[in-house]
Amino acid sequence: MIKENLEEVEARITRACERSGRERSEVTLISVSKTKPAEMLQEAYDAGSRDFGENKPQEIREKYPQLPTDIRWHMIGHLQRNKIKYIIDKVCMIHSVDSIRLAEAIDEEAKKHGIVMPVLIEVNVAEEESKFGVHLDEVESLIRQISELSNIQVQGLMTIAPFTENAEDNRIYFRKLRNLYVDIKDKNIDNVNMCNLSMGMTGDYEVAVEEGATMVRVGTGIFGARSYSQI
Ligand SMILES: *Cc1c(COP(=O)(O)O)cnc(C)c1O
Repeated sequence: MIKENLEEVEARITRACERSGRERSEVTLISVSKTKPAEMLQEAYDAGSRDFGENKPQEIREKYPQLPTDIRWHMIGHLQRNKIKYIIDKVCMIHSVDSIRLAEAIDEEAKKHGIVMPVLIEVNVAEEESKFGVHLDEVESLIRQISELSNIQVQGLMTIAPFTENAEDNRIYFRKLRNLYVDIKDKNIDNVNMCNLSMGMTGDYEVAVEEGATMVRVGTGIFGARSYSQI
């Protein structure tokens, strides 16, 4: 089933790219494998998936040694500072930076490993109280602060849009994030490389691609529903 699901998602991304005059190669599909066992990730890998998204450091730690080494692991969930050390040498990007304190802690761990960690700023575009992420009007100043750190580099923005039955409802939030992204990109801030917009999940990734997403994070649409107790 995973192979067929991936093909379906691929086809939908391709059509969304065509509708909006974009190249398929501009969009990375991240298979969100949280709560799913390593065998299912292997199945997705065998069907061609190389980018996997997880939201818990512990799960990355457990799955990492069980799977091929050319996988690119993306940390997409809220991250506690004391957990950074478990993933700093395993992930290719952290999508969920929303404070200078977290950024400083990532910078410190990255320094120990002699690397520069690419990160995205998580933005709470719809200003939902239940969500992590910074407000639109705080993003630029946070990015300017992070740009002073040497072992972390901001490479774009990420958002989790509201849960909705109708994906069109989220178009306005994707568009707002994209506008902010372009504004900040145009400022050419030193040590900032705005090249990624991580937005769109199972319910709304096609709209997100139409609005400029360079990374979509699809879980349920590839691996099936997660049982509630696993979340
Ligand atoms: C779980 C999760 C996803 C994937 O959600 P689906 O609706 O299953 O596609 C995407 N992004 C983040 C940050 C997540 O936690």
